[in-house]
Amino acid sequence: MSATMNGAGAGERTAIVIGSGFGGLALAIRLQASGIQTTLLEKRDKPGGRAYVYEDQGFIFDAGPTVITDPSALEELFTAAGRTMADYVELLPVKPFYRLCWEDGYSFDYANDQDELDRQIHAKNPADIEGYRQFLAYSREVFREGYEKLGTVPFLSFRDMVKAGPQLAKLQAWRSVYSKVAQYIEDEQLRQAFSFHSLLVGGNPFATSSIYALIHALEREWGVWFPRGGTGALVRGLVRLFEDMGGRVELSAEAAQIEVVGDRAKAVVLKDGRRFEADRIASNADIVHTYGTLMAGTRRGEKEAKRLKARRFSMSLFVIYFGLKRHRPELQHHTVCFGPRYRPLIDEIFKGGELPGDFSLYLHSPCATDPSLAPEGAGSYYVLAPVPHLGNTDIDWEIEGPKYRDRILDYLEERYIPDLRADLVTSRIFTPFDFRDELNAHVGSAFSLDPVLTQSAWFRPHNRDADIPNLYFVGAGTHPGAGVPGVVGSAKATAGLMIADSRA
Ligand SMILES: Cc1cc2nc3c(=O)[nH]c(=O)nc-3n(C[C@H](O)[C@H](O)[C@H](O)COP(=O)(O)OP(=O)(O)OC[C@H]3O[C@@H](n4cnc5c(N)ncnc54)[C@H](O)[C@@H]3O)c2cc1C
Repeated sequence: MSATMNGAGAGERTAIVIGSGFGGLALAIRLQASGIQTTLLEKRDKPGGRAYVYEDQGFIFDAGPTVITDPSALEELFTAAGRTMADYVELLPVKPFYRLCWEDGYSFDYANDQDELDRQIHAKNPADIEGYRQFLAYSREVFREGYEKLGTVPFLSFRDMVKAGPQLAKLQAWRSVYSKVAQYIEDEQLRQAFSFHSLLVGGNPFATSSIYALIHALEREWGVWFPRGGTGALVRGLVRLFEDMGGRVELSAEAAQIEVVGDRAKAVVLKDGRRFEADRIASNADIVHTYGTLMAGTRRGEKEAKRLKARRFSMSLFVIYFGLKRHRPELQHHTVCFGPRYRPLIDEIFKGGELPGDFSLYLHSPCATDPSLAPEGAGSYYVLAPVPHLGNTDIDWEIEGPKYRDRILDYLEERYIPDLRADLVTSRIFTPFDFRDELNAHVGSAFSLDPVLTQSAWFRPHNRDADIPNLYFVGAGTHPGAGVPGVVGSAKATAGLMIADSRA
């Protein structure tokens, strides 16, 4: 017989959060800060989820998020706990935000300096100065309406959606990000420069709601940041904050089952047999995995998993983490390397079929901001290519992965990092198979459900289950969606429900 644990005193309110991604951590912090004794159960040996950290020979590689926006949403977590973020983690400004490069040699430094932006836009296409201003005004309006007002609201009933309807209609939310950008901006490369952002949270700029144009205003408003010590330092800061308040983190604790009795979630049983009971259970694990695997055998689990599997999932990613003997100061912290095709490539990635022959890449060079992430004089890097998810391509990544890595490294050596191979000290890859097997991500999607309008807000899985009132969800698969600000916002929405329910 397995032991049951909850570590709570008599009469204490308790909660379990399965998964320690940014959404799970932010939720656990908010619950613990409100006096609910919370236990965080994480499958892997380190917290952070997609923000895991690899270390090798003195090189530190943040596995996932590197563009940290909306620091105020993070600060709020510390404030909720009566603490100050600066005592836990330091955020460093990143300048320029990104360097965008094309194969014809054109490059654009996307910065938070209006004069500098105007100068570059003027040099490219003078007519787009005015267009850019109009786009920025639109982006700011979407930011106010879509992010500030609706980003942390739990859309539990269709009435919530109807209430938001007039705002969404006014903002033409049915149009795509690219079509809105193209309405204002003429030049094709500038259109790409102001529309690629939705890809950072798994959205196809040609299909994702123009609401995602708000990312531009979000970056202009609050900047782009990088934690000293890497994104991993931010994760460690959040864990420390949670533990300082008495929260409990169990690593290498893979949930195997959410026990449901009647209409109540009662306990979480781990693969190793341990059993944790709590008043309320929230899952930050993949939404299909939660319903399909953790609730297998229940009517609710089977029904929801079937319904969700029929929906559209976002792309996957192929990532190479690599360390070089030399830091390359000519590289900016964030570089987007546009390939020869934009729309056709994105179409192929989202629709699937074959692995495209060309690629567009994001190159991360964190030592540009914080040299401590590599041995002295050396440089840590990662490069990622968006690739189709496993549900719409049949690629054996065990075989294709090393070949694809070589193609990408050759391309980088030819165009961005001369002598890359000669300087290579270490490298590792993370493929769609790893998203599926390590992170339990359905079809190996890097960002969960595709954030199209018909899968957003009320149409996205809700923050509380409809039939099991003490079962909740948080993270990329819920409203508002992927990306660090998105999942931290989802935690605020879910925590609000859990705290209110626990007082009822
Ligand atoms: C390579 C990459 C780069 C990105 N770059 C950016 C960026 O620059 N900026 C940005 O804002 N966003 C970025 N994103 C998106 C962002 O990282 C994610 O949307 C966000 O971190 C997801 O957080 P989450 O709360 O949904 O949890 P996840 O990070 O998905 O974590 C879920 C956790 O649940 C755990 N788990 C799963 N199953 C179980 C189980 N059965 N039992 C226990 N635990 C389980 C997993 O191990 C994992 O730790 C990036 C994503 C990737 C992959």
